Amino acid sequence: MVLTADAFNDTPLYSRNEWSKYIASKPGDIEICDVTLRDGEQTPGVAFSKDEKIEIARMLDEMGIEIIEAGFPVVSKGEKDTVKAIAGLGLNAKICCLSRAVKGDIDAVLDCNADMAGIFVGTSDLHLRYKHHKTQDEAISCAVEALEYAKRHGLAVRFAAEDSTRTSLDFLKRFYKAGEDAGADYVSIADTVGIMTPATMRFLVGEVKKTVKVPICVHCHDDLGNAVANTIAAAEAGAKQLHTTANGIGERAGNASLEEVLLNLRIQHGIEKYDLSKIVELSQTVERYSGIKIAKTKAVVGDHAFAHESGIHIAALLENDRTYELFSPELVGGKREFILGKHSGGAALCYMARQIGFTLSKAETDQVLCEIKRLSEMKKSLRREELRELIAQTLSRSGSQTATTP
Ligand code: MN
Repeated sequence: MVLTADAFNDTPLYSRNEWSKYIASKPGDIEICDVTLRDGEQTPGVAFSKDEKIEIARMLDEMGIEIIEAGFPVVSKGEKDTVKAIAGLGLNAKICCLSRAVKGDIDAVLDCNADMAGIFVGTSDLHLRYKHHKTQDEAISCAVEALEYAKRHGLAVRFAAEDSTRTSLDFLKRFYKAGEDAGADYVSIADTVGIMTPATMRFLVGEVKKTVKVPICVHCHDDLGNAVANTIAAAEAGAKQLHTTANGIGERAGNASLEEVLLNLRIQHGIEKYDLSKIVELSQTVERYSGIKIAKTKAVVGDHAFAHESGIHIAALLENDRTYELFSPELVGGKREFILGKHSGGAALCYMARQIGFTLSKAETDQVLCEIKRLSEMKKSLRREELRELIAQTLSRSGSQTATTP
């Protein structure tokens, strides 16, 4: 059975990670480039309608996301129209588009009146040999040519090495340096197949930082479940632009999830510039429009992110929310739930019974709890009305009259 706890005491909205003060590196002036509408849409089976994309873009903008990657305009006429519509909304966020290093793709970006092109070329030997069929030098000259064309036409350019993290460090540095020399506004590290760890990402960002002065972007995939940790590690090592998607949707295992990155920035480093209160709403919107279900135990936005069944936990939570919640559901627009089941205790039952108008004695609490555990072991869950009924039945069976009915 599930009830919402509503009467809670005043406690801070979240605990800060005090260990952060012992680590040397902290993020500088970071920005988020959310790629839900582009990489997120590359999730197999996902295609957002124009109205859906516009609604998601507006929500991202309201949260204070600095850059919205609205699409890959060369893909279709519809895609181009949608990106153009988003660029015409007058949002505070800058609008970015994906573009291969070819003139036609950049022309499509220009047709949309977007602010920035994310020009990418695969730089690993695998991509050079099996995708581009180019040498390293050919890849650089093709990327630089596209970059110069985009710059000449007034676009800001993110100069991205796709599959950066399986590219040799020497070539990667040479690629980025060529981009910087040709006027790139950013260079971008793409962990295209999600191979990195926080330690290796920290090292790589440090090396790129020694090579170029332009800001560094980081685009992490979650094939090993490290995308968010790698993104935060990159930020701590000095990356400026962090790529995310709502609910972490994206190719294969997805991207770094927006909600998890934002909560990490707040909790690890006290970065407060984003409005987190609409995170759950955004997440549910993207779940609905993408058709990609959120796992119950997903961090921040899963159904169980603020659900408690353990009697020990609930008894402590009733005294102070922070005992078993790192951050308050109110911070992200979520809600706390107590679930009565086999691990429940008297404190939780009494609290929830009081909410629906029953004051239970110790003996009554024990009786009702015994019944809840019996039902729970039969995998039965009861709703609010059913808790009311269960209490009434149990008490009338025992002949007790002490309960006050609502
Ligand atoms: Mn990607």
